[in-house]
Amino acid sequence: MNLVELADPTHAQDVKLIRVKDELRAALAHGRREGRSVGLGPTMGYLHEGHLSLLRAARAECDLVVISLFVNPAQFGPGEDLDRYPRDEERDLRLAGEAGVDFVYAPPVAEVYPEGFASHVAVEGGLTEVLDGDPSRRGPEHFRGVTTVVAKLFNTVQPDVAYFGQKDAQQVAIIRRMVADLDIPVRIEVLPIVREADGLAMSSRNAYLDPRAREQATALSRALGAAEDAAAAEGLDAALDAARAELRAAGVEPEYLEARDAESLIPVAEPNGRPVLIAVAAQVGGARLIDNVLIQPSNPSTAES
Ligand code: AMP
Repeated sequence: MNLVELADPTHAQDVKLIRVKDELRAALAHGRREGRSVGLGPTMGYLHEGHLSLLRAARAECDLVVISLFVNPAQFGPGEDLDRYPRDEERDLRLAGEAGVDFVYAPPVAEVYPEGFASHVAVEGGLTEVLDGDPSRRGPEHFRGVTTVVAKLFNTVQPDVAYFGQKDAQQVAIIRRMVADLDIPVRIEVLPIVREADGLAMSSRNAYLDPRAREQATALSRALGAAEDAAAAEGLDAALDAARAELRAAGVEPEYLEARDAESLIPVAEPNGRPVLIAVAAQVGGARLIDNVLIQPSNPSTAES
């Protein structure tokens, strides 16, 4: 691929596409020796504004910015969309260049999982065994695939900071756990959910939505908005009821809709002074969509007044 052809004259010529981990390590070694900080944004590509928000944060805070583009087979279940997951590397390179990324790491599957590959990183217990929805389609193996590839990326890139989206709130909780448990020297930064104008959380999988499903999909963010309003006034049960009503009105059947402690993912029935995550997943048309809202503990002095 000729990067010069893609180049936005101001930025894209600076993007270096790398497919081999040793080359990426070598490319970063010089800057690291000079004390430059490295930021990493792991993605599966088909970039949208949600991804770009991570890259812009990395650009603002780090000297060298790396993005990975890797559709990770290990995190797809047998019935999932690995083969049809949308891909457009050329466009991703252009957008990464415009966001000021220095290195795009886009390895082939065999570079990440060479023959004989037999090791995994798994966060066990309550963080990965919940919020799975239909267990025949998705379960802890999904997150084992995520933590394995993210641990590998951390080892390859050795970032000072890694950027993730609140859109995948459970993934964030799991990666924080992994980093703490395995003493991985990286700071995790979490960026807010970027939405379309009508509220739909941006996702590469939104490409699967036909016009009818695209319209229906707006019910998820509406439901979470209703939950947020009701949570403040009437508590979490009412919040979940309000969300359920919005989904039902749009004909969307959630795989799960739950209120959980944002860090431990333990179910919470009533606000307990800690942030509560209300998370939803639903199959809408051709896409399995997830979305969530964080309910911050109310300020007691405000609540009493
Ligand atoms: P993905 O390519 O879907 O694996 O996502 C890569 C990273 O981008 C993950 O950390 C996601 O949480 C984050 N991300 C995806 N969609 C959004 C969004 N709408 N807003 C913010 N971050 C997002």
